[in-house]
Amino acid sequence: MSARAGIVYLVGAGPGDPGLMTARSLALIGSADAIYYDRLIPPGALDGAREDAELVYVGKAPGVPSVPQEEIGERLIEAAQAGKSVVRLKGGDPFVFGRGGEEGEALREVGVEFELVPGITAGVAASAYAGIPVTHRDDASAVAFVTGHEDPEKEESALDWEALARFPGTLVFYMGVKRLSDNAAALIAAGRDAAEPAAAVERGTMEGQRTVVATLGTLAEAVAREQVKAPALIVVGPVVARRESLAWLEHRPLHGKRVVVTRARAQASGLAKALRNLGAEVVELPAIRIEPTIESVEVRSAVERIGEYALIVLTSPNGVRLLFEAMRNAGLDARALGSPKKQQAGEAGSSAANSGTTVAAIGPGTARALSRRGISADIVPERFVAESLVEALAEVEVAGKRVLVARAADARDVIPEHLEGRGAEVDVVALYETVREEPGAEAIESAQAADYVTFTSSSTVRNLTEALGERFPKGARIVSIGPVTSEAAVGASLKVDVEAERHDIDGLLTALLADAAGG
Ligand code: SAH
Repeated sequence: MSARAGIVYLVGAGPGDPGLMTARSLALIGSADAIYYDRLIPPGALDGAREDAELVYVGKAPGVPSVPQEEIGERLIEAAQAGKSVVRLKGGDPFVFGRGGEEGEALREVGVEFELVPGITAGVAASAYAGIPVTHRDDASAVAFVTGHEDPEKEESALDWEALARFPGTLVFYMGVKRLSDNAAALIAAGRDAAEPAAAVERGTMEGQRTVVATLGTLAEAVAREQVKAPALIVVGPVVARRESLAWLEHRPLHGKRVVVTRARAQASGLAKALRNLGAEVVELPAIRIEPTIESVEVRSAVERIGEYALIVLTSPNGVRLLFEAMRNAGLDARALGSPKKQQAGEAGSSAANSGTTVAAIGPGTARALSRRGISADIVPERFVAESLVEALAEVEVAGKRVLVARAADARDVIPEHLEGRGAEVDVVALYETVREEPGAEAIESAQAADYVTFTSSSTVRNLTEALGERFPKGARIVSIGPVTSEAAVGASLKVDVEAERHDIDGLLTALLADAAGG
């Protein structure tokens, strides 16, 4: 389902865990022309956005003047009236303390269509992750979502403290940390029992979620002592005591462990995800970055005559992305490649003049990147190495033909040499370089307290130790994927504490888990 032109989608992004975004929100993010987003959206929420989508931050950040609500409304209207499909992405649910109502009304007033996509609201999700059921057959037959921070300009308080004190169920306060002490006092003065269990859930469903449990009478003090910060939710009611038997987040095997992952290769993000699923707090220290080189003369002249190549070989998803970007810069799109020439053995007239281009991908990831751009690769070897691609290319007739190999600057020469050996006229162009990434100061800081540093290749060892130098986390245990990587670590003066028995990501996880369990 794709976003329609001229419509504004008011979309809830859920409470913070990217896994709690709805399928519909992801589909709309993936197809919208423009996305206006808030601060409290899950990390990576916009990763699936179109490359050419307009991404506009309209949230509040401490100390920075925020875009006034009225102006947000105007910008949404303008974008929709210009014929764009617009996603307005908000934390939690748009209609629960999210001003989604106001934005919808402003749109309706000027005749702009909108649709609403609910999200999981923090009151439900943060409580659930804290092991607090907001309703329970024995403890609470009702739940109230309450604002703990009223518009200070309102003359009369909209909150009827006496009614809230009498409310026969759980009270969940949003935006309630700052005024917790006043609000708790008002509830108690209105008759709510000061001994009732109460909790603050900080960063619910996000990394580093923390729950502080006390009573209505003592929670403000506990929250101040523990320095609980926004975003946090306050839950008041007997259900809070159920946490003793229902807490689950803290039971996950890597809960409370901070693990460094170096994002040198695509695999590492799978590792980060697996670690997070086991409860770890993951610090990603990117060691390598892609630097596009598509402005070069070589790339530009190759793109200009892209239709003349009988065969185009692509060796990574980044290569695909950048080749298409270079084509777009030259005013071209997928049609420039012509229809694929199926080179079937013995096919009559297969060598006749045919303007089609055969496209080869080194592996399934590259083929997927192509298919997202409307090209289905003619050749995809089963194994993900240059030698397998060479084997698969055997079926393509290349003698005397022009061939383009578009790839990274520092790639191996196996493929071009093979094709030249078979009489092809080969152009090799570099679409990007991989350069060492200097990790951000914040990530380095957070890595200092790491329990584990994981290494999945010797190049990540080299890049990370060189990038961090003296700031390499000293207390962390070093986990290596195998002997080659361990050797590199030892060479970099590190002591390897854990080495995987099976030299893949699963093997590394198994080894790390065993170590964390004290075995
Ligand atoms: N529309 C949002 C709420 C926005 S109001 C929703 O439906 O969840 C912002 C308040 O929501 C914060 O002050 C905090 O009280 C609460 N909140 C949002 N995300 C939270 C989270 N991950 N953990 C705890 N509270 C959260």
